[in-house]
Amino acid sequence: MNDDMRRLVRVQEIMVVIDALQEKIASNPAEVARLEKDLLAAQKDADADRARVSELSKDRRRLEMDLMGIESKISKYQSQLLEVKTNKEYQAMLHEIETCKTERAALDEKILLEMEESEKRSAALRSMEEMLERKRRETSQGKTRLDAEAQDLMRQVGALESERTEIMAGIAPAYLQPFIKVARQRKGLALVAVRDERCGGCHVRVMPKLIQQVRRATGLIACDSCKRFLYVPDEPSRAAGAGAESPAQ
Ligand SMILES: [Zn+2]
Repeated sequence: MNDDMRRLVRVQEIMVVIDALQEKIASNPAEVARLEKDLLAAQKDADADRARVSELSKDRRRLEMDLMGIESKISKYQSQLLEVKTNKEYQAMLHEIETCKTERAALDEKILLEMEESEKRSAALRSMEEMLERKRRETSQGKTRLDAEAQDLMRQVGALESERTEIMAGIAPAYLQPFIKVARQRKGLALVAVRDERCGGCHVRVMPKLIQQVRRATGLIACDSCKRFLYVPDEPSRAAGAGAESPAQ
């Protein structure tokens, strides 16, 4: 490879990395939205539980009022019992009192059941509130983390963009312009390595004569089939010092 080609390969590498980073940055808002949606669902559940508990305590207050009504009826009848004149009236009054006592027993039972239910639900609500609080914290920490991640990714993109600009400034226009054009057409993949006599882009066989031309590296040579520009990768030891020297190939 000549220097221009080597720089182009690096530019392409950078562009691929930038694309991946930008995709990650773009996916962050969706991640934040997912966290917020989870939190909202948990909040709704807790709201429903809270409403149920308050409904129960309202029911209980109503039952307690009924109970007080019955109690006062009973004591009223009991005082009237002392004033009745006939046995028939007395029996009738006793009957009333018995009926009220039956009602009272039923109310006592109901209130007891409501209290048990209410205690159970209040305990469930308390653990729900704790869970919700935990979820709130997690959501806020998650958002902070995603924010920091996005910031970091943007910094990386910024650094890579400056590196790319710097490298591109050193590339001959005869290489740079066609590269940019093909990169646009080929989703960023304008340069492909020839490996085992095949194009790294479309995998169609590259003629030995064409490979010879590519090796001579006197200009951009396109794959006959996919029109991407071909290069023969440097030996690993040379690739390490990419751009530093230009050994004749
Ligand atoms: Zn090809």
